[in-house]
Amino acid sequence: MNIIEDTKAERTFDAIVIGSGMSGGWAAKELCDQGLKTLVLERGRSVEHLKDYPTTTMDPWDFPLRTQLPADVVKENPIVSKCYAFNDTTDHFFVKDNEHPYIQEKPFDWIRGYQVGGKSLLWARQTQRWSKYEFEAPARDGFAVPWPISYDDLAPWYSHVEKFVGISGNRDGLEHLPDSEVLPPWELNCVEQHIQEKIHSQYPGRHVIIGRCAHLTQPQEIHLKQGRGQCQARTLCERGCPFGGYFSSVSSTLPWAKRTGNMTLQPNAVVHSILYDETSGKASGVRVVDALTKETTDYYAKIIFVNAACLNTNLILLNSRSSRFPNGLGNDNGLLGRFIAFHNYRGNITASFEGYEDSYYYGRRPTQAFMPSFRNVFKQETDFLRGYMSAFGAYRQGWWRGTDKIGDDIKKELSTPGPWEVSMMMQGETIPKFENHVRLSTDQTDPWGIPQLITSVGYDDNDEKVFRDFLNQGAEMLEKAGCKNIQQIDTGWNPGLDIHEMGGVRMGKDPKTSLLNKWNQLHACKNVFVTDGACMTSVGNQNPSLTFMALTARAANYAVEELKRMNL
Ligand SMILES: Cc1cc2nc3c(=O)[nH]c(=O)nc-3n(C[C@H](O)[C@H](O)[C@H](O)COP(=O)(O)OP(=O)(O)OC[C@H]3O[C@@H](n4cnc5c(N)ncnc54)[C@H](O)[C@@H]3O)c2cc1C
Ligand code: SF4
Repeated sequence: MNIIEDTKAERTFDAIVIGSGMSGGWAAKELCDQGLKTLVLERGRSVEHLKDYPTTTMDPWDFPLRTQLPADVVKENPIVSKCYAFNDTTDHFFVKDNEHPYIQEKPFDWIRGYQVGGKSLLWARQTQRWSKYEFEAPARDGFAVPWPISYDDLAPWYSHVEKFVGISGNRDGLEHLPDSEVLPPWELNCVEQHIQEKIHSQYPGRHVIIGRCAHLTQPQEIHLKQGRGQCQARTLCERGCPFGGYFSSVSSTLPWAKRTGNMTLQPNAVVHSILYDETSGKASGVRVVDALTKETTDYYAKIIFVNAACLNTNLILLNSRSSRFPNGLGNDNGLLGRFIAFHNYRGNITASFEGYEDSYYYGRRPTQAFMPSFRNVFKQETDFLRGYMSAFGAYRQGWWRGTDKIGDDIKKELSTPGPWEVSMMMQGETIPKFENHVRLSTDQTDPWGIPQLITSVGYDDNDEKVFRDFLNQGAEMLEKAGCKNIQQIDTGWNPGLDIHEMGGVRMGKDPKTSLLNKWNQLHACKNVFVTDGACMTSVGNQNPSLTFMALTARAANYAVEELKRMNL
């Protein structure tokens, strides 16, 4: 149901933001802070902080299958069921497979969260800055197109975002993983510290750090002003956190934007397309289909931020056709939807560790040990391009190890931690390629009359080499650190399951080879800004959302300046 009145004047705003998730929340906050009357359009239902976290205080025994999903739900949802975070405690924040169909030309597990807050409610909250080496990589190594911005352009915006979000971590002083503005770090446990020492002593140039993550280990005034409090280390985050202990747009940017009095948030508003005005040569607004009634309404604004998450942003632009742009808004070079890339999660390593049996750890720490990429960082060194970040954790086997005991015996076993186990994963950079693309179906639409998306994204030989290198290097490092029973595992993950899809509307210097300029404006339609993962020219090896947020804040402030200068 529309919450907005029905005259054109009442449907006209200074700015429209499409999507209310991680990046859309930031666009809304910055634009509202700067005094712009901003309409945030969100295709999913309303979610309000505290009020709409139905499972947040439930215990495992409150769920019929102790948090697992019934077999029929898993069977009906073969794609989203692959996501580690999808279970009976969180399923209300995930899109189910049959609700929003798409067409996989190659296997692609598209994991989505359609509600106010998007996937910011569900993310694992790992945050690392890019370094100058990621921004320089395409030009240095000759892939994709050069980035039109450098690390120095984004550094102040990383700081701006980090202070507001709240990032825990150390100042590690690494050139290739620049320090964030940090709150106190979580701690590596004794086995992780042992592995860290062994790696540092035997592999000069390789670094093990505690993961930097968007958790309030020591809330500052700015966080208390947002109504957020200290993280309690319970790792039930994906249910929505009643303490606001981790960052989501629902607990942070959206309520902040609302308090300015400048934001109108419209849930159940499926953006169909962006409207283009041939006379002014600008976008004039957006066409929205009501998710419930399927009624169509147009809204108008001077600037439009597209933050529907990478693939939906591609879809909306491809579907925004006019006589000036018959192949999608801004798509003069035919590259819209091309050069989709992602993170390669194909490798896992597990091991056991003997010793430290008298030691344990406190609470459920919401992060792990991280190793910034050590391959091809400062120069090309291997027979593959780019590298991978690795993350690992050491845990004592606990109650989940299964038991056939009952009574006193089971109590005793449950209260006795088992031996240490180690698990390591990779996050590999993939190279954006022309053939990895999305496009619109010409004959299949969704229930809102919008063409379905066809995904045609796959691995290549470079990804295979990166995966093999991780398995070899990871196993060698763990062995040298004293681990036993090392298992190298091919997860078989399809692209998409990393949930770090990027590209399709890439930034670049040249309108012939890119869609966006250095301020995230469409080269050919300057009042449309794309600042979610779709804008990424390359994908680095870091978890990407911090970079999306920093790019969004930078572009939003630029847009406001340009409006003041009457340039938009
Ligand atoms: C389980 C999980 C773990 C993750 N872990 C991490 C991590 O540790 N670190 C990290 O950096 N990233 C992580 N991510 C990825 C992170 O969540 C995304 O990068 C981030 O949310 C993307 O922000 P966004 O604004 O582009 O999209 P979203 O946050 O998904 O928001 C997009 C919004 O747009 C809405 N929308 C879509 N189409 C339309 C339309 N047509 N009209 C109107 N609204 C629309 C959606 O409903 C949604 O609310 C994880 C994701 C998941 C699911
Ligand atoms: S770990 Fe922290 S952020 Fe996550 S649910 Fe617990 S208190 Fe909230």
